[in-house]
Amino acid sequence: MITQISKINKESIEQAKEILLSGGVIGMPTETVYGLAAVGTNSEAVKKIYKIKGRPSDNPLICHVHKDYDISKLVLVKNDYVYKLMKKFMPGPLTIVCDSLGVICKEAVCGGDTLAIRMPSHKGCQELLRAVDMPIVAPSANLSKHTSPVTAKHVYDDLNGKIPLILDGGKCQGGIESTVLDCTTKVPRILRAGLITKEMIESVCGGCEIAEHKEGDKVKSPGVKYTHYKPKCDTILFSINEVDKAIKLYDEELKKGRKPYIMCENSLSDKLKGKNLLLLGNTGEEIASNLYDKLLEGEKKADIIIAISFGREDGVYMGIMNRLTRSCN
Ligand code: AMP
Ligand code: MG
Repeated sequence: MITQISKINKESIEQAKEILLSGGVIGMPTETVYGLAAVGTNSEAVKKIYKIKGRPSDNPLICHVHKDYDISKLVLVKNDYVYKLMKKFMPGPLTIVCDSLGVICKEAVCGGDTLAIRMPSHKGCQELLRAVDMPIVAPSANLSKHTSPVTAKHVYDDLNGKIPLILDGGKCQGGIESTVLDCTTKVPRILRAGLITKEMIESVCGGCEIAEHKEGDKVKSPGVKYTHYKPKCDTILFSINEVDKAIKLYDEELKKGRKPYIMCENSLSDKLKGKNLLLLGNTGEEIASNLYDKLLEGEKKADIIIAISFGREDGVYMGIMNRLTRSCN
């Protein structure tokens, strides 16, 4: 199969719609990462997603709808805070998990009784969702375990020959996946941290818990238990207090004739002058936006990415650290 990359416009949206409505799978941009999309009511199409990615069959998919879609067709909303969250953060990088009405096929929810729903804010993605006017399920458009794609070229690098079309909507601004929030409980619970932070959710709902996954627990958001986000080169993570250790390793790697790159925030660039660097930016939003892009740049250039963390785990750093630690283990 030839994989075509097309800039988003009227014609390519029409082409994407035809492929989706006839049971095909395509790459689509969102404001977080690129998604691998299929119509959520079509079991055969959904099975293709799992096959193409090599995704474990117990890891459910997020359902994407346009901003005027009536979600009461798909889920039962038990808690009123959901409407407040929708008003404030949707469309945007927030995924809400509610009780499923069973419209989306069982393959997409892995036989579970809940459904994760999101309304992407990416303009081109909204246009596609509106044109199709069907719930579209989509995990990130990478091979399972690999780093998530934030450009059409990243999708192509992983899935060339496996899908007919990638809609090119530019580089994803958000850069890490949506916050997944369990809204079936009295107080909402974060299942996966992301750009909509605990603090932002608390400011709307009064409270917000964080799901802790202890060994032996029945994992409520299966995706968090898997190895994930790994670039193809070696990776290692140091804390911000271990910069000297990171430099020592960098020098040892050079001596061995290997090519190391240090990945860190911009404020360390003076101290690390003259070294191969993958700079992530200054703020949490910039770091999130650049994280996967720099990991994927690094896997092409480096034998080892030596990452240095930021000394913070609050706000958007919670989502960043969740991705960074798992891409470096
Ligand atoms: P991905 O689309 O690859 O970024 O992964 C989607 C994430 O959402 C994974 O961590 C899934 O486990 C999680 N997810 C999807 N559907 C549900 C659901 N019904 N309940 C809980 N978590 C879900
Ligand atoms: Mg993923």
